Amino acid sequence: MQKVKAAVCHEFGLPLVIEEIQLAPPGQGQLEVTLHAVAICHSDISYADGAWGGPLPAVYGHEAAGTVSATGPGVSGFSTGDRVVVTLIRSCGTCPSCASGKPVICETPAPADGPLRTAGGGPLVQAMDCGAFAEKVVVDQRQIVKLPDAIPMEAAALLSCGVITGVGAVVNAAALRAGEDVVVIGAGGVGLNAIQGARIAGARRIVAVDMVAEKLEAAKEFGATHGVLATQDRPWKAARKALGGRGADAVMITVGAIPAYDTAPLYLAPGGRAVMIGMPHTGAQSQYEPVILAALGQGLIGSKMGDAVIQRDIPWMADLYQQGRLKLDELISGRWRLDEINAAIADTRAGSARRNVILFDS
Ligand SMILES: [Zn+2]
Ligand SMILES: [Zn+2]
Repeated sequence: MQKVKAAVCHEFGLPLVIEEIQLAPPGQGQLEVTLHAVAICHSDISYADGAWGGPLPAVYGHEAAGTVSATGPGVSGFSTGDRVVVTLIRSCGTCPSCASGKPVICETPAPADGPLRTAGGGPLVQAMDCGAFAEKVVVDQRQIVKLPDAIPMEAAALLSCGVITGVGAVVNAAALRAGEDVVVIGAGGVGLNAIQGARIAGARRIVAVDMVAEKLEAAKEFGATHGVLATQDRPWKAARKALGGRGADAVMITVGAIPAYDTAPLYLAPGGRAVMIGMPHTGAQSQYEPVILAALGQGLIGSKMGDAVIQRDIPWMADLYQQGRLKLDELISGRWRLDEINAAIADTRAGSARRNVILFDS
């Protein structure tokens, strides 16, 4: 076991503690990745707040990029020195979900015995099979994807969650066809990516809906054709007007706030589908009127991690970035050191940040 520095959650709702932890060497099919960058995602904050429960102490962090620094037995296609994106999408490849092309909902549980221990040898949870708020991670080879040399690590880190979730939800979950109309509820990190996903997929009009006027301006930089303030009375009326009255073929719900789920079907055109992407807290309930969905042939779809197949989707997204057709640098609002992580989390929590990225000295 080697020692690495990590930000550890000992108690929900309290600041993370920077401390040394023990990291096991990579086992069968696993690799060790020395991280260069990890972004802070709202999911990390929800976990650290206890929104979804789970055992403690734990190391969160799951939007990472780095360099392969050791390989375990049975690893093929990767070697030391490879630059990679590290994701939380651990898939077995053989369960019914994996076999039908949906590795994000793999049904095979991860081994109970993760690679992390506290400095004293006590149990320590590798949250989301990643534990990337640490200098190094040990993950399964199916969780990583090789990067082109030219792509900066801080931009690459964003590909592993926020970007594939937003772009993938439009391309994979909503299966948007060129010429369709899209409403994106929430213009935060995932929302901006849903917007650029809709632009890349050839949407006719893209309406961003948010509570904050400045976020609507940012949305336009990413491809929104119209912005609607969610604070107004019945904002779906303004969105429908922006779309010419018919409603949206796809409504992407990228926030966790329940009113967004309750009202999302009201933005839909006949035959439209609302895609649930944001992650409300456990136990939160939403209401909708089934007869309208039935009568108008509308649907509600749940989408985790953009239904991404990372080995397929991350390379094309990296390529679009290199062509200037997918914005990544513009998603970064702040750069921090690991020992500043609580301040970075507070900044993300304040809502102004797109993505705050922790950069490691390497
Ligand atoms: Zn995330
Ligand atoms: Zn599986």
